[in-house]
Amino acid sequence: MRPAAASASTSGAASAPVVPSAAGSTAAAVARRVRAVQYDYEARDKELVPACNLCGGRHLVEVSRVDRYGFPAVLRVCARCGLGFLSPRLTAAEYADFYAGVYRPLVSAYHGRPIDADSVQAEQREYAEALADHLGAALDARPRSIMDIGGSTGAVAGPLADRFGAAATVLDPAPDELRVAAAAGMETIAGFAEDYDPAGRTWDLVLLCQTIEHLLDVGATLAAIRGMLAPEGRAFADVLDVEFMIRRRGAVEGAVKIDHPFSLTPATARGFFAREGLAVVSERMADDGHWGFVLAPSEPAEPAWDELEAGARRLLDRAWALRAESP
Ligand SMILES: [Zn+2]
Repeated sequence: MRPAAASASTSGAASAPVVPSAAGSTAAAVARRVRAVQYDYEARDKELVPACNLCGGRHLVEVSRVDRYGFPAVLRVCARCGLGFLSPRLTAAEYADFYAGVYRPLVSAYHGRPIDADSVQAEQREYAEALADHLGAALDARPRSIMDIGGSTGAVAGPLADRFGAAATVLDPAPDELRVAAAAGMETIAGFAEDYDPAGRTWDLVLLCQTIEHLLDVGATLAAIRGMLAPEGRAFADVLDVEFMIRRRGAVEGAVKIDHPFSLTPATARGFFAREGLAVVSERMADDGHWGFVLAPSEPAEPAWDELEAGARRLLDRAWALRAESP
């Protein structure tokens, strides 16, 4: 999910302090709407994540204990590489239930407007057009087949397939959203990328758009993507830079949400790509904090651990300084 565009709130300026939150809503209004969704996060089944998905490290820094919805989700950052992740987090079965019935109502409550398959379709059209422009310039050849992992309603895969004259496949865990993609003529596969076995099938373009933070195993999914790429194929993946979002929201807590088991930066993303044999051939900085990468199959390489460790320290220092400055 892309964050809603921030709108300035001018109400209650002097007398009653207003905490700007989602799209100009006060924190109290957001809390009220989230309570009305009646999702009992504390009662759901959870699992600990003992080691870092990027470097395997176990030296973790507990950074925050509440997410943007007010749920008690603990964000830990790996001291060796800077990867952020929730631990404990919901189990895979709980996440499946969450996406089937809770995710859209919860995001709608947070933003104070209905966000469903139809509105996602409209909002992502602009994203798809901008991405098509970028890929049109970055790709050497027009893709004839496109796989969109976590592709929702096909709102991105559809316009890209039209632009390039390609056939689109959408893989997503949310059945309601897949129905929209199927109605538009796309091939659909229900499930998580980590569990999907393509049985040797490959695609010219594999997309992981605004999805990497939602995965339960980033490394395994990128390895699967590597395996789905045709020899001259390309992948596109973007990360919502958690450092950008912490700065934009003014606090770590504003950048953490239970629907993001992982929090990445461009640096940790590059570490994953190197390790899984995906070479960066083009990059794109979007206005909303997403940093995109066009990737080509290559030999797996060791990530630059020293740089990652320095980046981890910088991220932690900035989050700490921001906490000191917050009221
Ligand atoms: Zn790590």
